[in-house]
Amino acid sequence: MELVAARQQQSDHQPSLIPLDPPKSETLLPVRFISTGKVIMSTEKTIYGTPVVNGLAYAPAAWVSRFQIPKLDATPLPESERETETTRFDQAAATVSARLAARAKQAVGTASDVLAAQSELSADPGYRQMVHQAIKAGTPAAVAALQTTEKFCAMFEKAGGLMAERTTDLRDICTRVVAELLGEPEPGVPQLREPSVLLADDLAPADTAGLNPEMILALVTEQGGSTSHTSIIARQLGIPCIVAMRELGCVPPGEKVFVDASLGSLTLGAPVHEVLPRVEADVRAREAIRNWAGPARLASGEEVELLANVQDGAGAQKAASGYAQGVGLFRTELCFLDSTHEPTLDEQAAVYCEVLTAFPNQKVVTRTLDSGSDKPIAWATLEQEPNPALGVRGLRTTGLNQGLFTRQLDAIAAASKQHSGKNWVMVPMVSTLPEVKWVTKLIRERGLVAGIMVEVPAAAIMIDHFLEEVDFVSIGTNDLTQYVMAADRMNANLATYTDSWQPAVLTLIARVARVGQEKGKPVGVCGEAAADPVLACVLIGMGVTSLSMAATAIPGVGAQLGAVTLDQCQAAAAVVLQAADAGDARARARRALGLR
Ligand code: PEP
Ligand code: MG
Repeated sequence: MELVAARQQQSDHQPSLIPLDPPKSETLLPVRFISTGKVIMSTEKTIYGTPVVNGLAYAPAAWVSRFQIPKLDATPLPESERETETTRFDQAAATVSARLAARAKQAVGTASDVLAAQSELSADPGYRQMVHQAIKAGTPAAVAALQTTEKFCAMFEKAGGLMAERTTDLRDICTRVVAELLGEPEPGVPQLREPSVLLADDLAPADTAGLNPEMILALVTEQGGSTSHTSIIARQLGIPCIVAMRELGCVPPGEKVFVDASLGSLTLGAPVHEVLPRVEADVRAREAIRNWAGPARLASGEEVELLANVQDGAGAQKAASGYAQGVGLFRTELCFLDSTHEPTLDEQAAVYCEVLTAFPNQKVVTRTLDSGSDKPIAWATLEQEPNPALGVRGLRTTGLNQGLFTRQLDAIAAASKQHSGKNWVMVPMVSTLPEVKWVTKLIRERGLVAGIMVEVPAAAIMIDHFLEEVDFVSIGTNDLTQYVMAADRMNANLATYTDSWQPAVLTLIARVARVGQEKGKPVGVCGEAAADPVLACVLIGMGVTSLSMAATAIPGVGAQLGAVTLDQCQAAAAVVLQAADAGDARARARRALGLR
């Protein structure tokens, strides 16, 4: 029945306000129902959300259930039913305790301890005794459990400290017991009997204790964005994840689904013989990432420089302990988001020094303040602007206070004196030739290597002239995409537009890379596009000379680059420019790279 309902829902599908990319596929497929042996025509349905962690999975869907205790009937029980009611409570509490204990066994570390403690708490004799007394006095079991829990919580809260912190656990146990008594499914993440794809409206922090990557092959939520709790946990655990999948509600529990988190898609009724080999290949690829040890090299032997994006000394140290060959983007504005006044030259130099010393003798690209828009700094930006993303940000803040820029350059120069590596400096949001000439002069006067970011379309269009002036450029694909597509990068509803696979964006990147090659000047990419393993191959094929990304993304990119040749990368770079949209570009690139 559920299957039929799901099939019906898809035929009711209304065009979405938000264009979905790639287009939806609905193919008629014969599906054989094992129980009846009958072959009937069913449809394959694919729905889309926002990709967060790449990976493929094919497994039954398991829903996180949201149970809220309803208004309970408190009519006193007749004497004759009280004993049975007591047994019913004991069984419900024992079931809950056993489930929690089983989950504790599946989990690891702190999560396992938390679940084991919850299991013990649900079997607590003092609690049980109090509930028994209430039932004996005629209170129905669910009401007795609820009232007793509240009494315990009041006591715990009065005691304060660690005891008070246990009230959340206690209320969670009570909800589980009441759900069991009412015959409702277990609230929260269900006890999984086989590896599954976990579906939820969104994950609450409490749901995340005990998420076991061996049992949860992918995570898909209806709500959330790329910075939501679900996304953070998925990244930490390395579970393929998609968020903001608006039509997720049509997926029945238990139905096998195919998740392609790199495309942000979930398919119902996917042909097993087609998807299983892909999933197996993906598992092998993820294994290769775990085993990747750098430095990055294409299968045809060419080395690729992989750098880290960092925002402070601690992040730089962490990146240096991994496989980063230097820093491709040091976001200096993020060091000062909380400060109420402009740090002195010495204060600034000390912060910059921490990053430089993490990479002795290596390249560190320090970016001058990119304050404004989504990164306002009290002492550097305008308080209120009608349209901040198109406002006074990056280099443009020098219009408000030119001294800020030169004082920062002095601080970077001071820090660089103590660094024997390559001290490169680049400037964000540069858009005119006079700006390029001006910043290049100021940077070089201080003995530093001078560059600009290419993140305003004007810079990409004028790149022939700009590259004559500077020593290098780095393409900020996050902003370049936002400005080329006229789509706010902070707006989750515009995710289809703020996708660097958009052919218009790729065309500009290809142009910048080509001119860089012609003039023999380095062209890096430091936006999120560099962290997409497939897009990274395309960028190298276009002639980009370095890729900078979150340090955690480096093994994934490195492993993918190691699996393809330069010829394949160049072929992929050529075909994406013929694509109709972002989905088409992805598909063309994958084919050219020999990926399924
Ligand atoms: C970019 O725009 O791609 C970039 C790297 O800069 P930020 O994300 O800090 O704006
Ligand atoms: Mg930017």
